[in-house]
Amino acid sequence: MHKLPINNSFTNTLPEDPIQENFTRQVSDVAYSIATPLKFEKASLIHVSQLAEELGFDVQEIKEEEFLKLFTGQVLYPNTQSYAMAYAGHQFGNWAGQLGDGRAINLFEILEKDKRWAFQLKGAGPTPYSRRGDGLAVLRSSVREHLCSEAMHHLGVPTTRSLSLSLSGDQVLRDVMYDGHPDYEKGAIVCRVAPSFIRFGNFELAAAQGDNDLLKKLADYTLSTFFTDIKTTGKEAYLQLFQEVTDRTLEMILHWQRVGFVHGVMNTDNMSILGLTIDYGPYGWLEPYDHGWTPNTTDRQNKRYRYGAQPEIGLWNLLQLANALFPLVEDAVPLQKILDSYKINYQVQYLETMMNKLGIYHTHKDDRDLIQTLEENLHLHETDMTIFYRELSKIDHKTAQNDAFKIISIAFYHIDQLTEARKNSWIAWLESYVLRLELDVKMETGNALAFAKARTEKMNATNPKYVLRNYIAQLVIDEADKGDYQLLNDIYTMLQKPYEEQPEYDKWYALRPEWARDKVGCSMLSCSS
Ligand code: AMP
Ligand code: MG
Repeated sequence: MHKLPINNSFTNTLPEDPIQENFTRQVSDVAYSIATPLKFEKASLIHVSQLAEELGFDVQEIKEEEFLKLFTGQVLYPNTQSYAMAYAGHQFGNWAGQLGDGRAINLFEILEKDKRWAFQLKGAGPTPYSRRGDGLAVLRSSVREHLCSEAMHHLGVPTTRSLSLSLSGDQVLRDVMYDGHPDYEKGAIVCRVAPSFIRFGNFELAAAQGDNDLLKKLADYTLSTFFTDIKTTGKEAYLQLFQEVTDRTLEMILHWQRVGFVHGVMNTDNMSILGLTIDYGPYGWLEPYDHGWTPNTTDRQNKRYRYGAQPEIGLWNLLQLANALFPLVEDAVPLQKILDSYKINYQVQYLETMMNKLGIYHTHKDDRDLIQTLEENLHLHETDMTIFYRELSKIDHKTAQNDAFKIISIAFYHIDQLTEARKNSWIAWLESYVLRLELDVKMETGNALAFAKARTEKMNATNPKYVLRNYIAQLVIDEADKGDYQLLNDIYTMLQKPYEEQPEYDKWYALRPEWARDKVGCSMLSCSS
């Protein structure tokens, strides 16, 4: 294997837990503890993503024993020390105290062409933060994390990446639905990669412990390593950092809304300080468009993390971060001002996102009404979000009402049950949409043909054709469980070009099949992983 440009900024800058033994404990004044992966001697690689190539590993290297051993934790890279980060968090709205990397072990960071990448194994064994957990992960959740994080990257959504998916070679006991039916499943290890895995919760832990020194070190480290555009110092720099994290968080969530991704567990320990989608657990993709939907059965009662609530929860989480950063700023007013900016920017950027989804260029005073009516319609009758928006680009300012209805009607579930009233409501919306497109054309001064072409292109670059539908992920898992990875490879390939027409994958551009409606793993997922 080529020599990796190791550059460990986190461990070189921040305080280490003096205790080196691996037992569950509460820590104080430290940012991380030493933790060593278990030696999975029977481990085997299942899939390596295109990220390997991006990071400079060639095809031959990936096949070498050393690659497998390194990214399943059997050996550590020379002169590196693996570790688990200390963090806390608010879970489902409540303060949960110390959490930390309970089943993630950080290997090292590399710095290449000014880009920093931290490597982390998920499911490689217990750490001092494992609490009652075993530090392991099962194949099911690891397939989901590996595929989805790469799919999100190709969708243009800020996210942590996944380098590799491996079998650990061991069995792991899990009670999938938490209903007293534990069973053994195949263990797996994902190697995640991101510039940093720091979460809101790292700051919350230091603040909760009243450790202003650690808090400052964390903030200074984050600023000097990841926010080098911020040139100010002291309080002003911390405020700018908070503004930047706020902006990035909003941007990330708007991308989720755009593609129909529901994270499922937006606890503050699952919020990246870099605004990356992190910790793929019981996430899901909207199939029928529904603001009230969450795939996470653990959240079934309150649906705190439902699709429609994600932007608001992002703000709630930022408020927790603001509280954590307060000792560094000692003034609530500017922090509040930044939180207020989130609300204003949300309004503006949501409109922008929706205009892109609808293929409207020029703004008009009635646009918000048009969008609101559309969202009401999408809730009237079960309508597949991905198919609806993708088909919409086939409608233009000259499309007749009936044709327009025909175009979008392939997105309806149980079209036989579409009532006359609902159909009329859709026809009325389509009428106003086509009129709106006509208006857009009239407002355009450039070449009409080029304008039409650009519109379709923009829509198709905003509305993906292929997403990791919940049931597709489950089919991949079922096959992988049997040791067949063909489907995994196919779906991975398909998801590398989510906006392109790929006729060979057309069978995945279809309504969710009925069998998947209430199946565990397809529409219902627990946090068990
Ligand atoms: P999550 O909701 O998956 O982000 O996890 C919340 C917390 O539980 C984090 O601190 C995880 O590290 C920890 N955790 C989850 N699963 C396990 C496990 N199997 N073993 C140890 N810790 C775990
Ligand atoms: Mg987590």
